Amino acid sequence: MADKPNLLVIGGAMSAPMRDALAEVFTIHKLFDQDDQQAWLTANGADMPSVLTDGHWGVRPEIMKHLPNVKMISCYGVGYDNIDAADCAARGIMVTHTPNVLNAEVANTALLLWLATSRRLVRDDRFVRSGGWLKGSAPLTHSVDDRKVGILGLGRIGEELARRLAVFNADISYHTRNKKPESPYRYYPSLVDLARDVEVLFCITPGGATTHHLVNREVMDALGPDGTLINVGRGPVVDEAEMVKALQDGRLGNAGLDVFEEEPKVPEALFDMDQVTLLPHVGSATIETRKAMGDLAVNNLLQFQREGTVISPVPECQES
Ligand code: NDP
Repeated sequence: MADKPNLLVIGGAMSAPMRDALAEVFTIHKLFDQDDQQAWLTANGADMPSVLTDGHWGVRPEIMKHLPNVKMISCYGVGYDNIDAADCAARGIMVTHTPNVLNAEVANTALLLWLATSRRLVRDDRFVRSGGWLKGSAPLTHSVDDRKVGILGLGRIGEELARRLAVFNADISYHTRNKKPESPYRYYPSLVDLARDVEVLFCITPGGATTHHLVNREVMDALGPDGTLINVGRGPVVDEAEMVKALQDGRLGNAGLDVFEEEPKVPEALFDMDQVTLLPHVGSATIETRKAMGDLAVNNLLQFQREGTVISPVPECQES
């Protein structure tokens, strides 16, 4: 089958089962396997009607400009802040992502980070391994029960997180741009006011210009020396330099972080802090959830190729 349509794969998200399913329909070209990506794009970019990418790489402008005939971009991930979806929609390019199938996993990761941070799981694990327990007891920690909890971003994942927080008898409030009239949780039009009134702030918004440094110094100071910040949304939503200073000064109590401003770089100042738990952007990274995401990303491409329709378009492309 010499004339299968071309599929450009950006990033390293394509698993072997994804590749096998896609190879039946497409001729696959992996950008990151090319010795000179720029030269390859210049020579071949115009022949790529379909793209598979992930939430980290997206299709950045320097690549997009080499794809004048792209018709379909499938993003393996729900966050697509590195794809200019509004521009794609205006140009008739379909963009899909993988919502819902990862809600439970990311909510679990948020809870994992909160429990680990509050109960000093990593510190106490080190304490046992280093023989500290033979010399005395570990310091006490704070309970996660009966806490005032704020959720910044009560979307698909935030709602799932809120449901799971009921187990801990959490008193839940939230901030979004639009109040959710049907929500049982307390709405705060101001993020600073929310941060002032809660003990734990979970951040689970998309990235991009509208959320950049939403969690700034004022928000962190409002959360305060006993407060805990958990970020499983996107790194740039939190002003990382200000967060490091706030943790160093004790103006912010604790942090549990899955995402960072310049991944995979993490500020080294955080490495020695017992009050901080660090994860390498693994919010959805279980075998089961990544399979579900892969199936959806692949099926969007296959369905678009066969019928011109998709399963899960990004909101910007839902009308087009
Ligand atoms: P949704 O679109 O369902 O929810 C996003 C929520 O954020 C909505 O409640 C929205 O409300 C709110 N929001 C958006 N912009 C703002 C803003 N400027 N100020 C305040 N609130 C805002 O998305 P999901 O729940 O499916 O996913 C959320 C994000 O989680 C993803 O975009 C991704 O970045 C991140 N994520 C991280 C993962 C990880 O591995 N750590 C894995 C999966 C997702 P409103 O529009 O009313 O403001």
